[in-house]
Amino acid sequence: MKNLTDPFGRRVTYLRLSLTDRCDLRCFYCMAEKMQFLPRKDLLTLEELGQVADAFIARGVRKIRLTGGEPLVRKDFMNVINHLSAHLDAGRLDEIALTTNATQLARFAGPLKDAGVARVNVSLDSLDPHAFNRITRGGNITQVLDGIDAALDVGLKLKINTVALKNDNADDIPEMIEWAHGKGMDLSLIEVMPLGETGEDRFDQYIPLTEIRDKLEQKWALTDTPETTGGPSRYVDIKETGRRLGFISPLSHNFCASCNRVRVTCTGQLFMCLGQDDNADLRAALRGPDGVAALDPILDEAIGRKPEKHEFEIDRRRSAPAVARHMSVTGG
Ligand code: SAM
Ligand code: SF4
Repeated sequence: MKNLTDPFGRRVTYLRLSLTDRCDLRCFYCMAEKMQFLPRKDLLTLEELGQVADAFIARGVRKIRLTGGEPLVRKDFMNVINHLSAHLDAGRLDEIALTTNATQLARFAGPLKDAGVARVNVSLDSLDPHAFNRITRGGNITQVLDGIDAALDVGLKLKINTVALKNDNADDIPEMIEWAHGKGMDLSLIEVMPLGETGEDRFDQYIPLTEIRDKLEQKWALTDTPETTGGPSRYVDIKETGRRLGFISPLSHNFCASCNRVRVTCTGQLFMCLGQDDNADLRAALRGPDGVAALDPILDEAIGRKPEKHEFEIDRRRSAPAVARHMSVTGG
């Protein structure tokens, strides 16, 4: 079957698949305090999630990252992992990855490792229990740190993702980098993106990563690396810690030319670009008369509409977010 290649010649080899919009935390840049979650019938079933993954794998996708919401709070999510694991064993898939807040990781680290999950990205914005509790609106950092230790113990490769927040963690970032690197984990910094209403003013929290980098350069020797993952990350090596630091800055860095990815929400909407609203309804196709057979033509048609670039903007004059849907719906 032919690969998924868009009109700009970019091949789609990477799928980010959201398992749920629900989460046990309420990070203030991500969700509103009182989130209205989707009715369960709107979510793709575990079987449908597997069918969507199969369709993409048949068209040349080699890497799947499971995300959310919080993927580990979806009941029986291990069924999806085990389904993907069979593709891994058969050589049809190169990598199963996961993005999690790690609150449930202590329980699932072993099964995830056994199923062949390679990389786990853990989102953690502060090591200070009070700041963590404030940012996540109620989270307990001990659960997260226990999850991280359990995952390291079973040999999972972890990367820490930290959203840079002007008033909540910007000053603590060097300490977080030292902590992560000391435990053998890389760390990436993320710029706040204008996705969905959260009841907070993002402009107040936005801090360009260039500003953080300037400060880090006063402390450490940073060397740019040519490495790219086809996404919005750029990496530097820090001489003193001996590990990598990533900068994920979709607003100030245009990475679109090398984009290799698409996203499927937990309701089966295929988004060709994180920064645009155009999408294709895979759930309607799957639940229609032709079932899974309807997926393939819809993938072709949708990839034909993958836009050349995103349209993010954080601007005081705009009160509405650039993209109305929350990151927890699209999958980060
Ligand atoms: N719950 C999991 C977690 O937190 O890792 C997976 C989903 S979460 C939506 C994925 C990533 O998106 C997290 O690293 C989170 O910090 C990031 N994120 C959420 N909303 C964001 C926003 N508005 N701007 C930038 N990053 C955001
Ligand atoms: Fe939940 Fe992740 Fe969003 Fe935080 S960033 S509220 S952990 S989905």
